[in-house]
Amino acid sequence: METKNKNGKLAIGYVRVSTKDQKEHGISLEVQTKLCLHEIEQGPYEFLKIIYDKGLSAGTLNRRGVKEAINLIQEKKIAAIYTVHTDRIARNLEDHIYLRNLCIENGVEIIGINQPRFQNTATGRATDNVLATFAEMHKELTGEKVKDVLYAKASEGFFPAAAPVGYMNIDNPDEETKGIASRIIVPDPIMAPLVKELFILYSTGNYNVYELTDTLYEKGLKNRKGKKLQYGRVYEMLKNKIYIGEIKWGGGYCKKGRHELFIDESLFEKVQAVLHAHNGNRCKRRKYKWLLAGYLHCPIHKCKYTAEWHLKKKIAYYHCTNRNGCGKYIEQIGLENVIAEKFKDFEFSEGFVDEIIEKVRLRFEKARADYERKRQSLINQRTAYEAKRKVNENKLLSQVLTDEEFTRIKDEINHELGRINEQLVELEAERGENVDIAQEVLLFTKDIYKAYQKGSYLLKRHYLSFFWEKFEAQDGIIIKSIPSPLFRELSALNQVMYKTPQTEKSPITAGISQVITNDILGA
Ligand SMILES: [Zn+2]
Repeated sequence: METKNKNGKLAIGYVRVSTKDQKEHGISLEVQTKLCLHEIEQGPYEFLKIIYDKGLSAGTLNRRGVKEAINLIQEKKIAAIYTVHTDRIARNLEDHIYLRNLCIENGVEIIGINQPRFQNTATGRATDNVLATFAEMHKELTGEKVKDVLYAKASEGFFPAAAPVGYMNIDNPDEETKGIASRIIVPDPIMAPLVKELFILYSTGNYNVYELTDTLYEKGLKNRKGKKLQYGRVYEMLKNKIYIGEIKWGGGYCKKGRHELFIDESLFEKVQAVLHAHNGNRCKRRKYKWLLAGYLHCPIHKCKYTAEWHLKKKIAYYHCTNRNGCGKYIEQIGLENVIAEKFKDFEFSEGFVDEIIEKVRLRFEKARADYERKRQSLINQRTAYEAKRKVNENKLLSQVLTDEEFTRIKDEINHELGRINEQLVELEAERGENVDIAQEVLLFTKDIYKAYQKGSYLLKRHYLSFFWEKFEAQDGIIIKSIPSPLFRELSALNQVMYKTPQTEKSPITAGISQVITNDILGA
């Protein structure tokens, strides 16, 4: 490996394979290692070693391999890290910046083999950060999309998760609906009668939840781990409409689920009446996600703002969480609009937009190729199982198989087909999301304000964190906006520009004067 051109400094390769990669024959350990070795050989550094992390996602830096790499950087033992793609090392922006700064401080170069070589320029580093942010967003959105698949199952009348007490999960025996739900719930022959007894006893009004939980535990009512159910859990069970057929899962809803019922509606209603009598007017907690919660701070009390509904729930106000009160409340929508207006003030430089677009294109093309490869592989698998199914049927007809053998094989094949179909659904969701993300990034670079306004709650939060660390508010006015590290970096590089000269007070106070309300108590 030694050649005359080497500068005597050392380089390592960093290789990570997540469990998902391994399963889906993504870029394997061997391929990554080979690429790193090849690149190091071509480059100016001596090869030290390859560091591996297996079966872990890049969501955190708390990995054995990364820790080893960080030690090597800090001890100044290496001059470069080669990796197939820098998001192998860190996917969230904070970790990304942390690592990069650590490398800069210690004179270590990070080389992403499959990435265009922008790394060594300041702009390159900034575009890198932007994409790291979107990678992070992507990860969060993937979670959301998986949820969407579950919602869809729920809307079709299938309970999408681990069975509630009294039910159990089994493979769906129905050919027609297998594609939607490979697993369904049916009454558990042991637990269902006990759950029914719980409802009957509670409906008499003579017992409380504690007594019933204990007594029925002795008779065999327990959770999946064989432990006694928690009282709160039993209380929730008594209110759970799944027992009368209703399925509610996130955004998915179905009034008449397809599962078999063992509690009838009149019994359920009786239980509700008893519950209601016992609890009188227990207040319901309203949950609402406040967009700016976490971003608004009070500089006097060093605490965060929260918001709540007032005036018969028609208007909400943000306010400091200090107990003894603190200045004026700020009307929610108005304040959120003032913050949105701030996005009108920025634009990215042309060069920066071009680099982003180029990177997005490369990533998108790669994602699309991945999708096509995975889809084809699933379809091949499906075809193979369908062929097996045919063979199995033929064997039955020619009486080579017994009835039991035929059924066993049929069930196995159906189980696999259900699994494959489920993966296809998820793959489609992922593909759609890749398109969405590319679209969002492009809109974001061209018109930040529009992208922000169009964004979902989650995206808005991401855009906020993209630009802002926090806002300090006092007496109903934003007095200081503290930009995020990324935004500071971009401005320093002149890659993001203010369209209008900035003075903290003028545009903001002008906007906010309409949203200040007098102290809510006096209003
Ligand atoms: Zn305060």
